[in-house]
Amino acid sequence: MDAKTRHGLRLGALLLVIVLAACTHGPAIDWQHPSRNHDSRVQFIVVHATEIDFPTSLRVLTQGDVSSHYLVDRDGHIYGLVPEHQRAWHAGPSYWQGTTPLNPSSIGIEIVSVPLGMPEGTQLPFPDLQIRAVERLIADIAERHQVRPDRIVGHGEIQPTGRTDPGRLFPWQQLAESGLVPAPDSATVDKFSRLFAAGLPSVQWAQDKLSEHGYRVPCSGVLDDDTTHVLEVFQGRYRQAQVNGYPDLETMAILAALTTPDGTRLSDGHGHWRPFTANRPAHPHCHQD
Ligand SMILES: [Zn+2]
Repeated sequence: MDAKTRHGLRLGALLLVIVLAACTHGPAIDWQHPSRNHDSRVQFIVVHATEIDFPTSLRVLTQGDVSSHYLVDRDGHIYGLVPEHQRAWHAGPSYWQGTTPLNPSSIGIEIVSVPLGMPEGTQLPFPDLQIRAVERLIADIAERHQVRPDRIVGHGEIQPTGRTDPGRLFPWQQLAESGLVPAPDSATVDKFSRLFAAGLPSVQWAQDKLSEHGYRVPCSGVLDDDTTHVLEVFQGRYRQAQVNGYPDLETMAILAALTTPDGTRLSDGHGHWRPFTANRPAHPHCHQD
């Protein structure tokens, strides 16, 4: 290539830059001095189950009036529906550890819970392939955005009135063993079980502790509908063998462990557990409407 051609190419490139610059909108920004003081928009990961089959889930989440960032099919295929820097509309009115609502600061993962062609609400175990995909996805999001393990929650936990998904069949214990979420320390649960055998704490105590753990719960002192529902959601995560919304001895002992120093553990994913200090809401008190 001779000098004249090179000069022509350079001129062409320069003209292209000028044309492109003229096409961009907005003010010129000088990014020479970026601040080091910032963190990710994403503070929470919310796990959902769709309660409908895959084609219906996809239609609702892409063409209805709700959405999620990801949809995980039962064969483990992960679909991205909304870019992570955008808000998806998955949580609605919601609360966790003092933050409300959660759509602006969360990633939503929907998991298809109904096999193809089966009726809405069919409850079957989630296939291993699907759960392994969900675990890889959560691990990746949590790592990239530095999401705390106690901020990886089920939809029912952040919107306990009316929602229970991902439900009692979602293997939270498996996620705990993989080191993604914390779990109650079993020795501490046993200690409280022995203590409470002599007399169960009051409903007011349960409401205070549920609130301290992160739930939005009434402060009524009685086992009202909202409190029963929060207890169902709590059991759906931590005591899946019996989900009845009743504050029985085992439920209370698990709740006590989770809200006691050293009563919560986090796995390294290889069978070793260490104490985990969960985040606490700034004003951990049940609410009075
Ligand atoms: Zn949901």
